[in-house]
Amino acid sequence: MAEPLIELKGVTKAYDNRVILDQIDLTIYRGDALAIIGPSGTGKSTTLRVISGLETPDAGEIYVQGQRREGLVEDNKDPIGITMVFQNTALFDSLTVDENIGFSLYQHTRLPRRKIRELVEQKLEMVGLPGISNLYPAALSGGMRKRVSFARAIMENPENPASNPEVILYDEPTAGLDPIASTVIEDLICSLRCQGGCSTYVIVTHQDSTIRRTAQRVVFIYHGKIQWEGTVDQIDATDHPMVRQFFSGQTEGPIQVAG
Ligand code: ADP
Repeated sequence: MAEPLIELKGVTKAYDNRVILDQIDLTIYRGDALAIIGPSGTGKSTTLRVISGLETPDAGEIYVQGQRREGLVEDNKDPIGITMVFQNTALFDSLTVDENIGFSLYQHTRLPRRKIRELVEQKLEMVGLPGISNLYPAALSGGMRKRVSFARAIMENPENPASNPEVILYDEPTAGLDPIASTVIEDLICSLRCQGGCSTYVIVTHQDSTIRRTAQRVVFIYHGKIQWEGTVDQIDATDHPMVRQFFSGQTEGPIQVAG
């Protein structure tokens, strides 16, 4: 039986009195490749921010490797590293690729510049972009910027190996990319898992190819609840009406059409 790494128990979150997550129970196991899917605006990214510790739930509990997390992750460090890749990449335009990827090491460690540059180059190789560390984000394509943001997320700190990322959270990693660039990113997500380090990931997406090519397990969120959960292979076999409507893109069905 796989080890539970992160457990959400009865997690509830509301914005402006609107309940977005309604007593969600969700366990992420070591080695999971989990996709959180569902229509836009149903709380998928919110779930990811709660898992990452960037946001606190209004009610419910979060356990990381069995240890209760109180408050935000900055108040109370998790026993394992959990890292997030943001949808908009969140790179600093005025910094080079090297300074972006090594940002936290340049800010918070006394490691020599040469050592940080070596670590940055290692991560750039892992994401298939060797030799671009002196470029600025403006010189990169959308897909390259995504890959640089992956490299930053998996950066390690040799002075504090306990903080090294074990779980990586991807928020819509293929949003806005053309189908070929999406395939490159999907392959990279799978290959980073095989290269060790972050062997566990959670991915928020509503792109069919990304779900099928990167996930093993899927949870479907709608109206604040997990409505369905299964393996990727079960997507086409289930007759769950929400899953069928979502994957067929029908406007008729239990999912209300927004706007
Ligand atoms: P999804 O990822 O499924 O598209 P989100 O988790 O981004 O959905 O958002 C769920 C709902 O919560 C949306 O209606 C969004 O507008 C709202 N929301 C998200 N973050 C905030 C926030 N910080 N303040 C107010 N409302 C928010």
